[in-house]
Amino acid sequence: PSHHGWDGNGATAVPTPMPKRLDGKVAIVTGGARGIGEAIVRLFAKHGARVVIADIDDAAGEALASALGPQVSFVRCDVSVEDDVRRAVDWALSRHGGRLDVYCNNAGVLGRQTRAARSILSFDAAEFDRVLRVNALGAALGMKHAARAMAPRRAGSIVSVASVAAVLGGLGPHAYTASKHAIVGLTKNAACELGAHGVRVNCVSPFGVATPMLINAWRQGHDDATADADRDLDLDLDVTVPSDQEVEKMEEVVRGLATLKGPTLRPRDIAEAVLFLASDEARYISGHNLVVDGGVTTSRNLIG
Ligand code: NAD
Repeated sequence: PSHHGWDGNGATAVPTPMPKRLDGKVAIVTGGARGIGEAIVRLFAKHGARVVIADIDDAAGEALASALGPQVSFVRCDVSVEDDVRRAVDWALSRHGGRLDVYCNNAGVLGRQTRAARSILSFDAAEFDRVLRVNALGAALGMKHAARAMAPRRAGSIVSVASVAAVLGGLGPHAYTASKHAIVGLTKNAACELGAHGVRVNCVSPFGVATPMLINAWRQGHDDATADADRDLDLDLDVTVPSDQEVEKMEEVVRGLATLKGPTLRPRDIAEAVLFLASDEARYISGHNLVVDGGVTTSRNLIG
């Protein structure tokens, strides 16, 4: 009998949160070399998981893996290439005794941000295709190969990083918005199919985290307002490490838009939401999109 009174229907008790919520588990985090993905890798490792970073940035991925010790490793993986995704899953399985518990589809690209690229009247089809391949096909391939590894053990959690651009229009280039809506759709479909195999599928939708991706987009926005409006800057290739001042400025802009006053949004806040959905505490949650935005999408603060 439960010491806390009613314990559901008398079946197994809901697990109480453990200090290490992924103890003994094996996780893959795509795009884990920097930004939000790096925060997810660090938090998963802190919670006892063995983590595989799957990224195209060898230098940053290997540096992070060696900084975090033997429980974290790096595998080069372009998520838009099926063989790479298959290889990343095989690497995790062979290194960690044939188990994969968590797969986090975090890798993503924003795409070109010139005025022309932002308009439905003039967007470039090849660029649209590139963004969809990484963000949407990449997430679908991750779900496919993760599920193939998880289903035989009848357990697993797939968590993708979508965006508030999966909920609201007007927040990014068309390809980005379409790709993030696609992640929410894939999450729902895959959750329906994989529930029978004991695999949960969810996503997290962040707003405005001061990572290299967002700061590069913001820099471009400033350039637009001034001189070089139609400079053809590829945000995903021309990324430089943001300065502390840029990070602070970005955080201030985001604080101004959030309805929740007080805290500053950090990559760690997104990682905490991903950790929750990855962990057994979320064992009855599947097909859900958890928005982490300080209330932005439920307020009128974005208008005007
Ligand atoms: P980032 O650009 O700082 O980091 C992205 C990481 O993904 C990098 O390590 C990069 O090397 C890797 N990557 C890029 N293309 C890849 C590919 N084809 N295969 C494997 N790895 C690849 O971006 P971030 O801000 O940390 O974004 C992480 C995720 O969060 C993305 O899916 C992004 O769309 C989403 N997101 C970010 C924000 C934000 O405000 N920063 C808001 C909403 C959603």
